[in-house]
Amino acid sequence: MKTFIKRNKKNILGIASILMVIFMVITFIKTPSPSNVYEDEPVEDKSTGLKADNEASKPKSSKEQSKDKAKDTQSKKDVPKDLPNVKTSDWQLDLVNAEHPIREECKTLTVMPNGFEIDKRIAQDYYALENEARKAGHQMVVVSSFRSVAQQEKVKQDDIAKYMAQGFSAKESKQKSDEYVTVPGTSEHHTGLALDVIDAPWSDGGNGLEEAFYNTPGGKWLDENVEKFGFVIRYPKHKEDITHINYEPWHIRYVGKENAKYMNDKDLTLEEYVEVLKEAKK
Ligand SMILES: [Zn+2]
Repeated sequence: MKTFIKRNKKNILGIASILMVIFMVITFIKTPSPSNVYEDEPVEDKSTGLKADNEASKPKSSKEQSKDKAKDTQSKKDVPKDLPNVKTSDWQLDLVNAEHPIREECKTLTVMPNGFEIDKRIAQDYYALENEARKAGHQMVVVSSFRSVAQQEKVKQDDIAKYMAQGFSAKESKQKSDEYVTVPGTSEHHTGLALDVIDAPWSDGGNGLEEAFYNTPGGKWLDENVEKFGFVIRYPKHKEDITHINYEPWHIRYVGKENAKYMNDKDLTLEEYVEVLKEAKK
């Protein structure tokens, strides 16, 4: 028996390694990918419709997969010539999401005439956006802008308490809340570079942060014009599998004019753009 084991030690080890790999692959496949959330507070009653629109779990087409492969093999010599000469460490490109919690809350806040706070470095561009919108017949309404981690913590706790009051356990309540309310520290609103904007007719009609805003004249204007002022629609509909945030036509994010133009021209989210810059060693 001893000789048998000795002789087959290599084989046994080999089989054990194969089994281990199979086990790991199965575990990996079985791990569910995280579902998308809304960056902003949910819209009461109407949020279920939005949730139904979530296409995040859609598998990637073979074309998309080969595109990913091509991206992986991209070397420095493939750096696009027109790539802006910027760095991922630039304040305008601060990436905050579930995988990248904020390192430092915005310290350069200013209070806007409407009482909301934003990073003072983007104030002039935002005012210019509002002026241009007004000239085009759209009265913009800010619903939310800078939110501190502490404020988000309170929003989260209140939301969890709401579910617990409905009879859910603490664990269930947290799970339900996590489907909608961003985990404190991971909201882009902590940067002071993001605003939630709708327009007066939409707001006066009793509507709020709802996907259907994109189909209103004000929503369309926002979509087509924010880039000129250095903003992007941060969570586009067709990029939900990358941002892991549902489509939010109201959430605009400052990245600077040059970056906004490049991102839109190349159809890149901030996640993708930062990746392109990293590959180019920026
Ligand atoms: Zn937002």
